[in-house]
Amino acid sequence: MIIIDHLVKTFGTNYAVDDVSFEIKKGEVVGFLGPNGAGKSTVMNIITGYLSSTSGTVKIDGIDVLENPLATKKMVGYLPEQPPLYLDLTVEEYLGFTYELKGCSYNREKHLREICEIVKITDVYKRVIKNLSKGYRQRVGIAQALVGNPEIIIFDEPTIGLDPKQIIEIRNLIRTLGRDHTVILSTHILQEVQACCDRIIIINKGRIVADELTENISRAVGSNRRFNLKICGPQREVLAMLKAKSGIVYAEALPTRDGDANVYMIESEVGVDIRKSLFYTLAEKNWPLVGLESLGMNLEDIFITIVDHANEQRGRRESRKKKPSPAKSAIEQEVAQAMLDKTAKTKTSEIAGKSRGERR
Ligand code: ADP
Ligand code: MG
Repeated sequence: MIIIDHLVKTFGTNYAVDDVSFEIKKGEVVGFLGPNGAGKSTVMNIITGYLSSTSGTVKIDGIDVLENPLATKKMVGYLPEQPPLYLDLTVEEYLGFTYELKGCSYNREKHLREICEIVKITDVYKRVIKNLSKGYRQRVGIAQALVGNPEIIIFDEPTIGLDPKQIIEIRNLIRTLGRDHTVILSTHILQEVQACCDRIIIINKGRIVADELTENISRAVGSNRRFNLKICGPQREVLAMLKAKSGIVYAEALPTRDGDANVYMIESEVGVDIRKSLFYTLAEKNWPLVGLESLGMNLEDIFITIVDHANEQRGRRESRKKKPSPAKSAIEQEVAQAMLDKTAKTKTSEIAGKSRGERR
């Protein structure tokens, strides 16, 4: 449906988009995830024909967006970061204006009313846009994108500036639209893509650093790999056992105690749930386990890890060589490798800080 091939966009000497290629199939709901300045909006603006590329091509249904912009624009509904609303118009007037602008030939009133039902703005149809809440304005922006029944809908940071209730409503709406549209959603919020998208493309500094099914990322997130353990027993021996235990890739003693128990941080291999075998080993040694806290790995950790890793790789100017391992997804390997690199460097205090929920 959408094929992006070696896309480059420069502003002066700055590469906003630096050789980006990916393909989006009909019906996919794809999240475009990256920090501010990563190049998300630039890519979206090029797909929608608002910006030209420096080099590379974007094709929608086989049609080049630069060669035939009118044809491709008909297929795409776009909600830019700043919704293009005319605040002095009523919702009805504004959507009517959009309808004319797009040159639609439906039953106008029926078409617009249907859209208002979908995005739940029927109750404010006659109201002036500037008097609406931010959540409602965002819905009007989405309604504008739906005028003309485009097959593809592109949302650029659709929940930015909304309150938590409005965020949930807009995410639900995006999920509903995803059932019968091809959707691209850009965001810097990791939970947002996890909540809405089948697939996640992570972009950083104009380059794609990961392109994975959401379930693979969720699996990596859900895996129990890092734990804080509280164990009663001689610290040196306990630590030596943890370090030697198969399935554990990292162990260290933390400078905290809980009664007569020492605290340790461990990390297991990807795909290994160490808890049961650890329990039996400790029981055998007669070292009671009095606390086990999963440090988890949320999307933010994964994101930081991947981006850090990508930056390091770029810094070294080496081409990335992935070790083949059919049992693990690319992202799991990536995260595992990066975590190993990182663990070796991470200081006790940072890990302790992270375990308390602190973030960079
Ligand atoms: P994102 O949407 O991921 O936050 P953008 O695509 O807006 O990122 O920006 C990517 C990079 O391109 C940033 O460094 C930004 O400063 C730069 N950039 C974007 N638009 C322009 C522009 N019109 N002129 C100059 N630089 C721009
Ligand atoms: Mg942006």
